[in-house]
Amino acid sequence: MEPVIIIGAGLAGCEAAWQLAKRGVPVELHEMKPQRMTPAHHSPDFAELVCSNSLRSDQLENAVGLLKEELRRLDSLILSCADAHRVEAGGALAVDRHAFSAAVTEKIRSHPLITVVEGEVTALPAEGNVIIAAGPLASEGLTAAIHAAFPQSATLNFFDAAAPLVSFESVVMDHAWFASRYDKGTADYINCALSREEYFAFWKELTAAQEAEVHGFEDKSVFEGCMPVEVMARRGEDTLRYGPLKPKGLKDPRTGREPYAVVQLRKDNAQGSVYNLVGFQTHLKWPEQKRVFSMIPALKNAEFLRYGVMHRNTYLRSPGFLNRYYQVKEAPRLMFAGQITGVEGYVESTASGVLCAIELARRLEGKAPADFPQETAIGALALYISNESVTDFQPMNVNFGILPPLGYKIKGKREKNAAISQRALDALAGLIIQ
Ligand SMILES: Cc1cc2nc3c(=O)[nH]c(=O)nc-3n(C[C@H](O)[C@H](O)[C@H](O)COP(=O)(O)OP(=O)(O)OC[C@H]3O[C@@H](n4cnc5c(N)ncnc54)[C@H](O)[C@@H]3O)c2cc1C
Repeated sequence: MEPVIIIGAGLAGCEAAWQLAKRGVPVELHEMKPQRMTPAHHSPDFAELVCSNSLRSDQLENAVGLLKEELRRLDSLILSCADAHRVEAGGALAVDRHAFSAAVTEKIRSHPLITVVEGEVTALPAEGNVIIAAGPLASEGLTAAIHAAFPQSATLNFFDAAAPLVSFESVVMDHAWFASRYDKGTADYINCALSREEYFAFWKELTAAQEAEVHGFEDKSVFEGCMPVEVMARRGEDTLRYGPLKPKGLKDPRTGREPYAVVQLRKDNAQGSVYNLVGFQTHLKWPEQKRVFSMIPALKNAEFLRYGVMHRNTYLRSPGFLNRYYQVKEAPRLMFAGQITGVEGYVESTASGVLCAIELARRLEGKAPADFPQETAIGALALYISNESVTDFQPMNVNFGILPPLGYKIKGKREKNAAISQRALDALAGLIIQ
């Protein structure tokens, strides 16, 4: 059998390669790292998490928790490596990013049916089945080739930012304490307290701090789900206190009261030597990040191991261009997977790789499509991005709004969401997928 060509060994590309290979389909996986790095990738390993180390909620009452459970049941490589390298993060699935990527890389490189080819792909392969999983930062050469082949699909852009990392030993714990919100679960976060005066001084400097030049960026083109902290701050003096600096449910043990505002730090590696600033994605100039973020009392001596950065993300105008199997309608041997299709997030990118590969393997075996129904999160996402009636197409996180309503009333949001999740898992169990 001719190998399937996959471009990009990120989350979607590795997952697609794994799903195909485990079904006996040979794969040629092209990755430009480490010869060429995107502005956000730094490691030679595959499936690199470019920003947060969190794959978000792991609860079934949450849509991304449901999507994860579906992926586990579909034997996702990304989920199994994430579960194996999780670090404590309350109800979320967070991972040791280096151990996670190393595990994925090892599984991919050691699979007998996967051949890794190093180097940038700058032209669309002329023949064969091809999955383009080059991510939101696909190289310019490849993006130009996509444009040339499908000018009508016109790629769209938005901006996304990453948050800084600090060393644990530099956090001044006299101004911080370990806890999770409402003391639920284990005390996984470091909570950095700010008094009213400290908050306003910080807020004022943040709104006026110097930003790095990002070509073509305006505040209005940011993705609402990953908004730079300084952009959020400019929306009003209390916006941060209702967002990432929300103090609710976090009582400072020294005063017995909720502080005026709280910055949370989440463990970024298994040893707990590195922490990231939750919700602090930013595109301030690096010296400004150091100056302004060091105004948070617990971070006054912070050692910044990585500064936040911001990038332009590219995605396709998928509705009308791709079908529910992530195939290009007018050239079905070409498929796209991952964030470039307009699904948004680590887990969503992984899910598109799973679905695209399962359906491709079935076509190659002459089987009918699995047709993941809209009742499943994985199916709902594919149906959303390929839905021609969606006009103002924006990157889409998985959410219960894209699944059909239950059709009957259930009291309580958690209970309702749990029922939607159960229906999804039942629907998935009903699909016969080898
Ligand atoms: C700055 C930034 C921050 C983000 N933060 C988060 C976050 O915190 N949480 C979250 O859930 N999502 C986040 N995302 C969104 C998204 O989930 C990630 O981008 C995710 O990695 C997408 O997975 P992917 O497989 O589509 O692409 P990627 O993981 O980016 O993988 C694409 C791979 O293709 C390779 N490649 C690119 N072009 C070529 C080429 N021409 N030839 C060969 N190889 C090529 C790249 O080197 C890369 O390894 C962020 C995105 C960006 C850009």
